[in-house]
Amino acid sequence: MVGGKKPSKRPAWDLKGQLCDVNAELKRCRERTQTLGQENQQLQDQLRDAQEQTKALGTECRTLEGQLATVQAEAEQGQQELKKLRARIVELEERLSTQEDLVQELQKKQVELQEERRGLTSQLEEKERRLQTSEAALSSSQAEVASLRQETAAQAALLTEREERLHGLEMERRRLHNQLQELKGNIRVFCRVRPVLPGEPTPPPGLFLFPSGPGGPSDPTTRLSLSRSDERRGTLSGAPVPPTRHDFSFDRVFPPGSQQDEVFEEIAMLVQSALDGYPVCIFAYGQTGSGKTFTMEGGPGGDPQLEGLIPRALRHLFSVAQELSGQGWTYSFVASYVEIYNETVRDLLATGTRKGQGSECEIRHARPGSEELTVTNARYVPVSCEKEVEALLHLARQNRAVARTAQNERSSRSHSVFQLQITGEHSSRGLQCGAPLSLVDLAGSERLDPGLAFGPGERERLRETQAINSSLSTLGLVIMALSNKESHVPYRNSKLTYLLQNSLGGSAKMLMFVNISPLEENVSESLNSLRFASKVRLPPVIPRPCQYLWVVVGFSIRTHLSSRPGSTLSRKVLDSQASGALLTWFHF
Ligand code: ADP
Ligand code: MG
Repeated sequence: MVGGKKPSKRPAWDLKGQLCDVNAELKRCRERTQTLGQENQQLQDQLRDAQEQTKALGTECRTLEGQLATVQAEAEQGQQELKKLRARIVELEERLSTQEDLVQELQKKQVELQEERRGLTSQLEEKERRLQTSEAALSSSQAEVASLRQETAAQAALLTEREERLHGLEMERRRLHNQLQELKGNIRVFCRVRPVLPGEPTPPPGLFLFPSGPGGPSDPTTRLSLSRSDERRGTLSGAPVPPTRHDFSFDRVFPPGSQQDEVFEEIAMLVQSALDGYPVCIFAYGQTGSGKTFTMEGGPGGDPQLEGLIPRALRHLFSVAQELSGQGWTYSFVASYVEIYNETVRDLLATGTRKGQGSECEIRHARPGSEELTVTNARYVPVSCEKEVEALLHLARQNRAVARTAQNERSSRSHSVFQLQITGEHSSRGLQCGAPLSLVDLAGSERLDPGLAFGPGERERLRETQAINSSLSTLGLVIMALSNKESHVPYRNSKLTYLLQNSLGGSAKMLMFVNISPLEENVSESLNSLRFASKVRLPPVIPRPCQYLWVVVGFSIRTHLSSRPGSTLSRKVLDSQASGALLTWFHF
């Protein structure tokens, strides 16, 4: 049955067909067996392959299991690491959040800073704008500075030239000032009559007269008349005797109303001379109570109006020295203050244990062969301001007060000598000048009636008076010898003149105040004082052409200075020089 078609059931008689069918079936079975054998063979091959594969897979499986174990171990490790990493992550997250907070904060800050930056930028821009403006201004200023520098250099050259000229003028001023002082007289006498004090008897009218000069009342007073009625003289008829009039003439007379500043004005020029390097000596002469201490030191109570010559002179010196420092001059001042009593010298500036004890001092030459004199045991105090001088005057007053308890009114029986050694230096020009300024309050000049000197106290007093009289007359003789230009000047005859010898004579300027009491009871002493002073004073001898020359020189320099910038000092000085020259001229 080809084509798979099942042969339809053969009839039982068809044995051949049936045989044929069985053969076909057999053949088919054989083929099938063969196929199955092949298939079996294939399957066995496959089984073998599979077994081999299984074997290989088993090996692989074992390998894989090993690997799996490794992987698992690794996985476990990984887990642990993962755990750690998680913890780390948590930590990092925390940190992150902190950082984020920080970042936020920083961002906020950044915003703020940005705003600030914007503000600053705008400020900076503003500043830059301003800077640009400033730079522009600066460059213009620099140009200006450059031109100013040039101008300054020119001014400096001019200034040097002017300084040179100013110095020349200053030296010329010094020379002319000294010439003027010499023409006025190196020895001058001023008379001062003190006012009547409260409680004193009023003197009779006309006792003192102060005739005015040829120029009328505007002229400074230079004359004084003292009218004295002499009871010892009598007329035959018994009629009252007319008073005798005594006329005196001095370089200047100060009537009772004169103030301290007026008096100082007159001597300011002499103080200037001391700064210029000329020794200056000013005395106050007169009987006790006539106003010597008032003139020299001042009135009581520290009233500045009543300040005397010493504080005023020192203040003037300090201020002029200050002005001259602008011209390169440096001044230094050393003060001493001694008292000469009964020909013994005592330091009025002593302090500590020596205070008021009157330890004796000696006048000696500062160095062997040197002209300069010094008082041993005495203090020499550098001074540079009024306060220091005030302190010294106060100390001297205290020292005198202590001495007064030991010796009644010793201060009026002794000479007080205030000396200031002035040293000036112009270092850039190598110039130096130095001179002493001496201000002397002399002992009372009154005479004691020897007939009254009986008791031991009076005898002592007489001895004292004789010492005073002798030293005062030596002073008179010294001054006269100097004005007569005698070869021998008796400086050594008294301690006072010995101490002052460098402040007298030569180019030194000397001024004597004769102090007069206005009282009638003192007329006799007043006459003695006025006579003494008249002997000391010699009228200055000035040839007429010289006077004329002085007026011309004074005024031409005054006019020259007033037309250019210069120191007020020079102008002040020349002003007075010019007027002084005029005055000198008119007086002749
Ligand atoms: P001296 O020193 O000559 O003894 P003082 O200077 O002590 O005299 O003067 C005696 C008195 O007269 C003092 O009380 C003083 O104050 C007074 N006196 C002197 N001169 C004047 C004057 N110009 N103006 C006012 N008072 C004066
Ligand atoms: Mg006195």
